[in-house]
Amino acid sequence: NVVGATNLLGLAKRLKVPILQASTSEVYGDPEVSPQNEDYRGHVNPIGPRACYDEGKRAAETLFFDYHRQHKLDTKVVRIFNTYGPHLDKYDGRVVSNFILQALKNEPITIYGDGSQTRSFCYVDDLVEGLIKMMASSHSGPINLGNPSEITIKELAETIIQLTGSTSNIIHQALPDDDPKRRNPDITLAKKTLNWEPTTDLTAGLIKTIDYFKTKS
Ligand code: UDP
Repeated sequence: NVVGATNLLGLAKRLKVPILQASTSEVYGDPEVSPQNEDYRGHVNPIGPRACYDEGKRAAETLFFDYHRQHKLDTKVVRIFNTYGPHLDKYDGRVVSNFILQALKNEPITIYGDGSQTRSFCYVDDLVEGLIKMMASSHSGPINLGNPSEITIKELAETIIQLTGSTSNIIHQALPDDDPKRRNPDITLAKKTLNWEPTTDLTAGLIKTIDYFKTKS
């Protein structure tokens, strides 16, 4: 994140082109406030197993704002919350792909921890529209892009079992270190500055994603 951001910021400066950082809700770490707005400075463990990602993205945001201030570069930072949809990698180990694949094979659904942790899932087409609007705007951010509709991981498992008509049962496995307890975007700023908000609800998005995985499994 840091070396790549430095290289690409240098390139954008030489070419005099706008550049967007696909940052992440991970910059908020395991947040103490919910929902998270852009002013929240985060709660990140700097030495945990997720830290290389969280801190790498945070340092990259710093570089983007330094280039903006120092070189007047047209930089944009968006903080992307959990996103899903067709073309997710089958083996990326993320929750939506894992649960759908397990459900389609009628294998146990692996919930890490008790499943009370929450995430807010944004359908990919909504997210892409937000990215395009951000790139076309004069705002440098940071701006949250995500779907504010929050769900527990247990509810997600039950929804996917129901939508696939699966006979899978739920099993519990160890919760990874530093797994954020809640994640929910405050998108007031994106609504106001980009006139953007997601329009695909979770059920509609999951049906499309399940259809995609049916052709892949
Ligand atoms: N998770 C789970 N079972 C899985 C994969 C993930 O219970 O098979 C949980 C994980 O512990 C986390 C949530 O689902 O609480 C989202 O995990 P993911 O890796 O998809 O995204 P992130 O943690 O980066 O939001």
